[in-house]
Amino acid sequence: MGILYFDAAATAPPVGEALEAAGQAYTAYGNPSSLHGEGLSAKHLVDKAREQVASALRCKPERITFVSGGTEANNQAIFGLAKIRGKRAKKIITTDSEHPSVEEPMKALEKEGFTVVRLSTKGGVLDPDQLKAELREPVAFLSIMRANNETGAVYDLAGVRKVMTLCGTDAPLHCDGVQGFLKIENDRLTSFCDLVTLSAHKIGGLKGAGALYISEKIRNLPPYLLGGGQENGLRSGTENVPAIAAFGAAAEKAAKDKERLSYLASLREKVVGELEDSGIRLHIPPVHLPNILHISIPGVLSSWALNFLSAKGICVSAGSACSAREKKKGNRVLSAYGLPTEEIETSLRISFDISNTEEDCALLCEALRECAKLKR
Ligand code: PLP
Repeated sequence: MGILYFDAAATAPPVGEALEAAGQAYTAYGNPSSLHGEGLSAKHLVDKAREQVASALRCKPERITFVSGGTEANNQAIFGLAKIRGKRAKKIITTDSEHPSVEEPMKALEKEGFTVVRLSTKGGVLDPDQLKAELREPVAFLSIMRANNETGAVYDLAGVRKVMTLCGTDAPLHCDGVQGFLKIENDRLTSFCDLVTLSAHKIGGLKGAGALYISEKIRNLPPYLLGGGQENGLRSGTENVPAIAAFGAAAEKAAKDKERLSYLASLREKVVGELEDSGIRLHIPPVHLPNILHISIPGVLSSWALNFLSAKGICVSAGSACSAREKKKGNRVLSAYGLPTEEIETSLRISFDISNTEEDCALLCEALRECAKLKR
């Protein structure tokens, strides 16, 4: 039985170019900080990847700091901004549907005396008036994700920047760009965000590499990890050269592939079309990623559906992969979106990758229709 993998938002299958780049990096095994030839070869691979990631994000290479992934980049950005801005203001603005790697640092800062305001993302949209009202007081910084990992909603960050400019705030804007990176046509994230978090394994790279973009406007962001001073003193620890090289290769491939986003959107549209009259509920935010589709199957608990589909070799997620094994009650993100409990308990996230085919989608839809018959 072949596997039908529809869980790319949890982790995307690595692309061939990324595996090849990682393979070369395993051969160039030197430490990038060493001054001999082996070290320089490894450093060259890290520098090349920095250029590739920077070009995909449309920024200068020196603005990219490599880290271990999205979680570390979010922690580095949030705790760093709290340190440099916390003396001026104690208020932080974020949203009610951030990934745990933003939400948990926010909770930690609340314990340290910061006030965290979580903007509503009901229906997958931000309310500019709510933001305007919150910006009447001085704000330390803002952290708003580009696209939601569960619903696929894309938030209007250009609009956020516009409101910030209108209100005359000097607070920096950090963005968790993990799901949105290279999934939004002509995105200009660095023109309206001051810090951007990226993760390699969501774009066809390997787990264990990510990046934080830091604009030149942000000075003296303190490092989160202290040690040998790698990455310009911002992120100590010997670089994970194979994963970084793979990150660069995956970013370059995705940025060059002009058909990729429309292909992902066509797969998603095919599934939407086939499920429309199935009784399955489709939760479609007004602006959404081309690769995430969130659904609820009335009367069929997510855990039943996952088992049923898994027995057929079909991989999807119930909510996000990070929280799927936690026995937490409810779902903060889907409640924030406005789904009732019954739809949350029966919800599934289908996420597409370029390796999926139309035939895979047809098989998925057939299985989902069968699954809908399991109804209590
Ligand atoms: N932010 C978002 C929106 C994510 O979806 C994820 C991973 O699922 C992360 C951050 C964490 O990234 P990483 O797995 O690289 O730590």
